[in-house]
Order: sequence, then structure tokens, then C-alpha cells
Amino acid sequence: MKKLLSVVVSVYNEEAALEKFYREAIPVLEKISWDYQIVFVNDGSRDRSLEILKSLAENDDHVKIVSFSRNFGHEAAMIAGIDYSQADGIICMDADLQHPVECIPEIIKNLEEGAQVINMVRTKNESAGWFKNLASTAFYKLINMLSDVKFESNASDFFAVSGRVAQVLKKDYREKIRFLRGYVQSVGFKKIVIEYEAHPRIAGESKYSIRKLFQFSVNTIVCFSNLPLKLGVFAGLFAGVLGVLVLVYTLFTRNGAPSGYATIVILNCFMFAILFLLVGIIGEYIAILFAELKDRPIYIVEETQNL
Ligand code: UDP
Ligand code: MG
Repeated sequence: MKKLLSVVVSVYNEEAALEKFYREAIPVLEKISWDYQIVFVNDGSRDRSLEILKSLAENDDHVKIVSFSRNFGHEAAMIAGIDYSQADGIICMDADLQHPVECIPEIIKNLEEGAQVINMVRTKNESAGWFKNLASTAFYKLINMLSDVKFESNASDFFAVSGRVAQVLKKDYREKIRFLRGYVQSVGFKKIVIEYEAHPRIAGESKYSIRKLFQFSVNTIVCFSNLPLKLGVFAGLFAGVLGVLVLVYTLFTRNGAPSGYATIVILNCFMFAILFLLVGIIGEYIAILFAELKDRPIYIVEETQNL
């Protein structure tokens, strides 16, 4: 029996890109030796995306639709696509053709050779702009410093997993605050890296604002490292040593303690800054604990088609 490949595509307001994506993906998928399906996950689009997907699905059984009741975010969309795929290999990619479909045959080849996790690493990302590229590099440097998990830097939301790894993601990684790329890199198994050149977006614009990316980075650091929680110990030691130094200075200086209004105010501000920062960091961890504790669904499906 032929093996089945599932291509998971998250879709949020991509009316301008979908048909082009379909037209480019199908010829590539027709050529591979596996059976295939494309699972489009409509993440609460407010434009004509769902309509377009439905018309594609009506004419082609390979096209499957999972449609959310509202926008749940890219991470939720990717795991929903994986949840609904009973396949021997799953590829997650964007609908905007930034992730080239021409890479699919190479992915298939590697899956056949026994790779379980295939990280697609971008060599170039022209459309992201210098700030996003710099921020992305800095983020991977930081997270690799803080976390035990070694992240492939410049790993993208473009990756493939075997059916075996998909099973693990479906069963054991049900966190609400999610970072699928991180899980994929931390599950182990035989892992390989393929480089690709990210294309510019074919249509529409990026759904990730700088603010969203920042929150996402903070969440990821919190989810993959406990180190920030321990900063308090260092801050305490620092304040203690500083206190002792000032004490010794005050006791032994000839003129007694100098009258220093400015010193006191500056020191106060400085100390409170450290204190509040630490409280804020603890707050981030509590917020995530709270979200996990509430155990609300990662996504809610309103309807499916061809599934
Ligand atoms: N996306 C989604 N839900 C969201 C935001 C984005 O499903 O809330 C999809 C979007 O349609 C695209 C993919 O996730 O297929 C990546 O988004 P985008 O291309 O805007 O991000 P970028 O490539 O600029 O990082
Ligand atoms: Mg994109």
C-alpha cells in the first residue's frame, strides 16, 4: 500500500494566496510516490478564505478542511492539522508560498530513508525585513543560552515529522501555551536539517506583528527555561554584597556617613527596578501556569470537510 503524506497548511485571511498555493502544490504532490492530502486549517479567517477552500475541496478529494470557530493562532492551527492527519508523514507549511513546495520531494526522500524529524532551516528571508531577522537571530541565541533544548537557529514553521513523531505530538504535547517548533526539536528521534531559501510572501501581509512576536518569544522562554525564575538569587546576592560594601565604607570613612539625598534616591530606584522586574518575571510564569490550569481547549472546530 502507498504511504500517505499530509500537508498541513494554516490559513488566516489568505484569500489572495490560497488558489495560487493550490495550483503550485498540486503538480509537485502529483509527482511524488506517496498518496497525499492537503489539510487546510482555517483559523477563523474573516475574508473569503473559507469560501475558496470549500470550492477547492468540492472539486478535489485531496483537499481537506478543518475550520475553527474563531481565530486561535498559528500554533493551534498547526496542531489541529496534525491531529486530523492519520498519515505516515506530515509537513507543516504556510499558505503564502514562503515555504517552497519544491522542497517536498526532498522531504519525502528523507522520510523514506528513516528521518523522523526534518527541520527546514531558512538561509535567507528577504521579506521579513532586517529587524525581524535580527530579532529572530537574537531570540535563538538567547533561548539556546537559557534552555536545555538545543534549538536549530532559523528553524521555521516549515518542518516535517513522521507518523511516529506525530503520534507523540498528538498525545503528549498538549500544552495550551505552545511552541510546536520547540517540541519538534526536543522529542529526539532521527533528526535532519534541510536548508531552503524563503521566498517573499506571494500576497497579503504577515500576520505576525512585532508585538505578537515579542509575547510569543517571552512565552517560549518561560516554557522552555526555568533560569529566569532563579535570577532573584543573583539579585539578592548582588544587593547583599553592595550593602556590606556601603556598610564598611560608612563605618570606616573618616568624616562619617556623607549626606547623600541623590545617592539614596538613585539606589532606591535601582533596587526597586530589580525587584519589580523579578516580580514581573514571576508573573509571566504564573500567567502560563494559570492558562494551563484552566485547561481550556487549544482550538474549537466548527466544521470539517472531506474528513
Ligand atoms: N496564521 C494562522 N493564524 C494566525 C496567524 C497566522 O493560521 O493567527 C497562518 C497564516 O495564514 C500563514 C502562517 O500562519 O499561513 C504564517 O503566518 P505569516 O505568513 O503571516 O507569518 P510570517 O511568515 O510572516 O512569519
Ligand atoms: Mg509567511
